[in-house]
Amino acid sequence: MVAVHKTVDELAIFGGAPVFDEKLHVGRPNVGDRDRLLQRINDILDRRWLTNDGVYIREFEARVARLAGVRHCVAMCNGTVALEIAIRALGLAGEVIVPSFTFVATAHALQWQDITPVFCDIDPETHNLDPGLVEQAITPRTTGILGVHVWGRPCAVEPLERIARRYRLKLLFDAAHAFACSHHGQMLGSFGNAEVYSFHATKFLNTFEGGAVVTNDSNLAARLRLMRNFGFAGYDQVIDLGTNGKMNEIAAAMGLTGLDSLDEFIAVNRRHWEQYWRELADLDGVTLAAYDPAEKNNYQYVILELEDTLAISRDELVSILHAENVMARRYFYPGCHRMEPYRSRYPQAGRHLPHTEALTRAVVSLPTGTGVEADAIASICHLVRLAVRHHQEIHQRLKRQRGQAALAL
Ligand SMILES: *Cc1c(COP(=O)(O)O)cnc(C)c1O
Repeated sequence: MVAVHKTVDELAIFGGAPVFDEKLHVGRPNVGDRDRLLQRINDILDRRWLTNDGVYIREFEARVARLAGVRHCVAMCNGTVALEIAIRALGLAGEVIVPSFTFVATAHALQWQDITPVFCDIDPETHNLDPGLVEQAITPRTTGILGVHVWGRPCAVEPLERIARRYRLKLLFDAAHAFACSHHGQMLGSFGNAEVYSFHATKFLNTFEGGAVVTNDSNLAARLRLMRNFGFAGYDQVIDLGTNGKMNEIAAAMGLTGLDSLDEFIAVNRRHWEQYWRELADLDGVTLAAYDPAEKNNYQYVILELEDTLAISRDELVSILHAENVMARRYFYPGCHRMEPYRSRYPQAGRHLPHTEALTRAVVSLPTGTGVEADAIASICHLVRLAVRHHQEIHQRLKRQRGQAALAL
């Protein structure tokens, strides 16, 4: 396909034909070498060893641990269960400080075991926890901090480590976005008491569904392994409370196949991200979230932030793109504190979260990954530029359109 150019009148939201015939989704999975995957699946069937510490699970754990530069990787059935088990294995209780600007699983993993997520505001520059505000949120009930490396960009790791040490808190990181990313040259995954990856289909590396806890703490790793497998320490020997958090062999085979293509996934994402940057960086009214070129990045997220100088709202831009079959996403709208059960429990939380609230209204995530072509990105950038350059006119027309739709009802 060749990049399409339109005028305002030709936008699909005003009745034109959509640029894309099929929906272009954010987070189309990265799939590695299909033959290699099928070969591994055949091996699994030949071995008749489908789960429980199989050959591929062990290999996957070893390769993830090596890549993250940590001693232990404990693979799990998904990132949420990995978070839940890590939280429990660390002995967290009472209150844990988390951002509200994250996927809801970060908060749910705490609340699921009756631990109160205390929502803390973010730094509007980094989109990550503001350590000064974290310190202010500590109470006698606080047992830990759960930071999130949003978009794979590192949290304020050192300040959070200092706070955790001073107040004797556990420090856990949700590194669901941050596989194969570094901070001062050290891989994310190796900080705090432990870090948690997600290998969900939409993530940079996927195992269909999957996750892992990575840590340098051998005692913690042993506890995680017990909890992941019903508390079994050997045949017939249950020595503690546990659940079923195991990853299966086919998931591990998918993970290994993805790891074989990791450099290619990064190269494609990086090329896409640089194309977006070239075409959108100097556009007034929007900011593209940047990655530190001195670090390792997976470039999995193309995040556009609309400034409030624009007449069109973020939601109007999303509607314009959706009409063209560009399925841009509003991350992490509306913020965990505005979702249930938190919304009812802490109706005033938003007062302390001005940067979170502003960002959840300003951010759009655009399609990238190995499932997207350069021409498609050129068309998406053209649409964004058109919408932003003609923001006044488009906003007025959309307002009129909404008025007419309301009258017609
Ligand atoms: C995807 C994600 C999770 C949950 O991982 P699953 O594997 O889908 O359970 C948790 N936190 C963040 C920030 C995520 O993006």
